[in-house]
Amino acid sequence: MKCRKCGATAVIHMRQHKLALCGEHYLTWLPEQVERFIFKYRMFTRAEKVLVAVSGGKDSLGLWDILHRLGYRTEGLYIGLGIEQNYSDESRHLSEQFAAARGLTLHVVDVEEKFGSTIPELSVISNRGHGKPCSVCGLSKRYIMNRAALEGGFDALATGHNLDDEVAVLMQNTFNWAAGYLARQAPVLPAQDGLVRKVKPLCRIYEREMTAYCLLRGIEYIYEECPHAEGSSTIYYKEILNKMEGDRPGAKLQFYLSFLQARENGLFANIKQEVELHPCERCGQPTSAPGECAWCRMWDKVKLVKRTVTANPESVPLLGLAAQA
Ligand code: SF4
Ligand SMILES: [Zn+2]
Ligand SMILES: [Zn+2]
Repeated sequence: MKCRKCGATAVIHMRQHKLALCGEHYLTWLPEQVERFIFKYRMFTRAEKVLVAVSGGKDSLGLWDILHRLGYRTEGLYIGLGIEQNYSDESRHLSEQFAAARGLTLHVVDVEEKFGSTIPELSVISNRGHGKPCSVCGLSKRYIMNRAALEGGFDALATGHNLDDEVAVLMQNTFNWAAGYLARQAPVLPAQDGLVRKVKPLCRIYEREMTAYCLLRGIEYIYEECPHAEGSSTIYYKEILNKMEGDRPGAKLQFYLSFLQARENGLFANIKQEVELHPCERCGQPTSAPGECAWCRMWDKVKLVKRTVTANPESVPLLGLAAQA
């Protein structure tokens, strides 16, 4: 297959766009697409400061690379979650290496260093998420990202959600007729009462396009998924969508764009998109809950459990092992 622009051997064939490109032209084409979507959805301007949330994965590091190449004012944020099996150590190392090689500023917030427990520990102690750390992880990431963006004076927070991520969430929300979530799913969530503007510049870029971009740019990223992602519903929906895409190239993009069009046409106009927010009584971050925010309430509980355990070691729950005769 030949590159449509220069006739050289193509390195990628994007059936959904009926387009094949060589490495050189692909590395120009992809940032141009991203820039087009930043402009189309009015995500941010070159005068604004953007905080890019990086995880050490291909999407977030690829996004940061693209924004930097396009000349946007960016800094990175890495959140150390303390995930086992070396996952967090490796992802932090790759994020730091990426930033250092480009002379970019990376802010690191390590949850254990800063607050006293890793995410998996927090999940167990707070007893949230039915044995999976993902709900505590999501809460913590949302909280830290927003606080870091506000404290750092950033205009927008950019995440590396790609088209595959967006469509998997869209499918899940559609199957559940989760109208409130559907109403709030968008390339841009405007700033509101202490919540920073959130943007997803890769929302129309396929996952395989990001993989190709990182390989061609020589970006080292963590290949493994987080060990807690195994068996997640997102992976399940992605597998179904990959099957559909294989049968009908462009199916994912079509689903997403039709959704955005329906949204634009007012399909969710009667659904209240903004929840009422007020500052948390403890930390000042926005919350819809009365009194303290979910993050502060989680830590109250964790501190109480830790204090109880320290003051009274016998309160540590038994492991349930049968006594040996
Ligand atoms: S799978 Fe995602 S949400 Fe769950 S613990 Fe890992 S990084 Fe956090
Ligand atoms: Zn070419
Ligand atoms: Zn709070």
